[in-house]
Amino acid sequence: HASVTLPTATRIITVSNQKGGVGKTTSAVNLAAALAHVGARVLVIDLDPQGNASTALGIPHSADTPSIYDVLIDDFPLVDVVQSSPESDLLQCAPSTIHLAGAEIELVALVAREHRLRTALETYLAATTDAPHFVIIDCPPSLGLLTINAFTAASEVLIPIQCEYYALEGLGQLMGSVEMIQKHLNPRLHVSTILLTMFDARTRLSGEVADDVRTHFAGETLTTVIPRSVRVSEAPSFGQTVIAYDVQSAGAVAYREAAVEMLARGVEREGGR
Ligand code: ADP
Ligand code: MG
Repeated sequence: HASVTLPTATRIITVSNQKGGVGKTTSAVNLAAALAHVGARVLVIDLDPQGNASTALGIPHSADTPSIYDVLIDDFPLVDVVQSSPESDLLQCAPSTIHLAGAEIELVALVAREHRLRTALETYLAATTDAPHFVIIDCPPSLGLLTINAFTAASEVLIPIQCEYYALEGLGQLMGSVEMIQKHLNPRLHVSTILLTMFDARTRLSGEVADDVRTHFAGETLTTVIPRSVRVSEAPSFGQTVIAYDVQSAGAVAYREAAVEMLARGVEREGGR
């Protein structure tokens, strides 16, 4: 992989969209695996009580597993909950457990409730000798305190957009939230990447949604589009990303291309080194 340049500073990216079922988790884990595939160290933070990202990465996350809940609510060091994915030494995950379902409410009463993930991550990154090149945060489908913690910790927002509905309709609310966080909690936050997912070349709607998104977000939208693919949807039931499950499948190839694009765009921003 001589052609890829890894970032010099950790890129913290939150994968967000307040709609469910648009491909957040699928994109978070497969982009993470694709980045690890080309040699990047990647930490996935599973911030969704459903724990789908943990499952897809083959990470145990039963109720008694130390998890991101303990980090957010009980001040556990992040390093104590991080596990390596069986897929790759470069791919790690801070799992979610069912306890996280209560965290949205429990956070309300805590000091610095919007900053808890950020503080934990800063401590972790400062202490580790081989810091990850990427931290990818998988958010729940809501704009509550868990997502706000992700927005406060990250500098980049990646929005997956499903090419099957008029997806732009819900986007205003998400953009408004990002702006509010920029203003009040985290001036570095910006929408860096929009990823078109579940593209079906046979339908006119897919093409129309893709064109619409490109018109509105020319600079942010990746050239690579993720096709709808059975291999992508099957992989999690084997506790795998599609990169491990079937690396040559259309879905895996698309996520690998998207990852390379993300790396290249990062280099551009760092000044074309
Ligand atoms: P979210 O995290 O936004 O709720 P998911 O990533 O869980 O969305 O995706 C929702 C559903 O769509 C899952 O069943 C997933 O397997 C399926 N899915 C996501 N991307 C693809 C794709 N490219 N091809 C086929 N199925 C997909
Ligand atoms: Mg999800």
